[in-house]
Amino acid sequence: MPLAEIAAKARLIEAKTLVEYRELPAKRWIGRIAGGESSRAPFDWTINPYRGCEYACRYCYARYTHEFMDLSPGDDFDQQIFAKQWSRSAFVSELARVPRREAIGLGTATDPYQPAERRYGITRKMLEVFAQDSGRRLHIGTKSDLIRRDVDLLEQIAHRNQLTVHVTVTTMDAGLARALEPKAPRPDLRLDAVRVLAAAGVSVGISVSPILPGINDSYHSLDTIARAASIAGAQHLWGNVLFLKPATKGVFLPFLQERFPQLARAYQQAYSQGAFLRGEYPDLIARRIEQIRISHGLLRREASPEAVYLEPQMPLFAA
Ligand code: SF4
Repeated sequence: MPLAEIAAKARLIEAKTLVEYRELPAKRWIGRIAGGESSRAPFDWTINPYRGCEYACRYCYARYTHEFMDLSPGDDFDQQIFAKQWSRSAFVSELARVPRREAIGLGTATDPYQPAERRYGITRKMLEVFAQDSGRRLHIGTKSDLIRRDVDLLEQIAHRNQLTVHVTVTTMDAGLARALEPKAPRPDLRLDAVRVLAAAGVSVGISVSPILPGINDSYHSLDTIARAASIAGAQHLWGNVLFLKPATKGVFLPFLQERFPQLARAYQQAYSQGAFLRGEYPDLIARRIEQIRISHGLLRREASPEAVYLEPQMPLFAA
């Protein structure tokens, strides 16, 4: 059955003021990244327990994925959240087919610790399975301090598997973070999560992605994050310049017009040729990040695989 049809029939579980949660029958839990060794993706397999994300980041690159369900990449992405119907046996049997040497990314499209996780606990249920396993290569990405809840399991997993976590922090300015990532936890709370994970012996890094020209890209802004990350016990830091696909453009450009009108025209021009910025600017940012990494000792690359944005045709979600 096409995904749009399955989504339309999904049972309503709960409706908050604006947000509706629905259960989605899971055809697959673990998606294979196409392209094998030639792929630019840092993972071989992806897991995303939820579709849509209540954190509502203006720049979220996963917005286009709601279009597969005939829903809008704008408000629907933030307010129509789909949780996969959990089946431990199905998950375990899919995991058994993933070779141990291959890397698995949990939260490659949407945040596995978004508010829905408090209620459904699907991420935790998956971690319970990983905690019984060994020899896995698992990487988790989040913007949420809810990950602290699972520190017991993460500790167990790290003991017998190669576990890395990255926490995304795009700015230490709480006001700017609120504007860019309206419902995500404050930056200081995310750093608290880094502290807790690092103290538990979990290998943790910081992603400063996306780096937004003229907004969070100054040396001072990035250096402030790096300093706080280093104090919290992070081992690595990386970042990519904003990747702007059409579905996200429709949300991000009106936001810019409202909040940073002086930048709107420049963004429109810069991203008129494609989703990636090319040329001098990304090179400048790469050098800046490297310099900051070195000055704060955030160099342990395996603490956070360098993520590249996954192309939309890649199966970010196992349907
Ligand atoms: S936390 Fe991640 S998945 Fe959620 S809206 Fe923000 S960028 Fe998108």
